[in-house]
Amino acid sequence: MPTVSDLTTRIAERIAAVGQRVAGAAAAAGRDPGDVRVLLATKTLPDDVVRAAVLAGGTLIGENRVQELLAHDAAVADLGPEVHLIGHLQSNKVAALLERSPVACVQSVDSREIAARLSRRCEALGRDLDVMVQVNVSDEPTKSGVTPEEAPAIAADVAALPRLRLVGFMTIGLNSPDRPAVGAGYARLRQVRDAVVGDLPDARHLSMGMSRDLELAVAEGATIVRVGTAVFGARPPAR
Ligand SMILES: *Cc1c(COP(=O)(O)O)cnc(C)c1O
Repeated sequence: MPTVSDLTTRIAERIAAVGQRVAGAAAAAGRDPGDVRVLLATKTLPDDVVRAAVLAGGTLIGENRVQELLAHDAAVADLGPEVHLIGHLQSNKVAALLERSPVACVQSVDSREIAARLSRRCEALGRDLDVMVQVNVSDEPTKSGVTPEEAPAIAADVAALPRLRLVGFMTIGLNSPDRPAVGAGYARLRQVRDAVVGDLPDARHLSMGMSRDLELAVAEGATIVRVGTAVFGARPPAR
């Protein structure tokens, strides 16, 4: 059995390796590597691995599901990582998310309706919430997210809701070996951001890029890259 400290050391090495990749891509793009944060995507991981990841220096955690967020949070709450929701949010989970978890940002706002529901619940609780609008840049119908065409108008409406602060845009890139096509999708998200950031200066963040393609995302302006497998290894196949 590996000890907790073995696990922490191994994860710390992998986080450092991802940091090197980010730094290399930022340098190649003439960007400050300090402008890119690494979010650890912890879906399906056991609690002890999530705890080891936070102990290893993972200060930003991304969760796909509210139930799993709550379970993982119980294992890391004393360490105080920043937790973002990066998976589709069902309206019947909004209350649990805002009342029982420390979520700092919902990156996966994919409709006006879910934004309005978050806003109302935040008003009732007297709390603020950072949000991003998720955009589907790949035309893959299976992916959630608003279209790039409708994103600016939805962003303006979301930003106008009480208690929500729109901090940027998130996308899941095209899953393809065609790297120019993947990069074009990330450029599309940047264009959406650039179209609104004059009116909405808080909405400057771009959450894009995963283990397989983070360099492409950093080249197009990512300020958050979301990595799972590069740090934790392959996940078991989805059920
Ligand atoms: C799993 C996941 C990631 C990380 O993907 P990897 O390929 O494991 O790096 C990033 N974003 C979202 C929304 C995810 O669900």
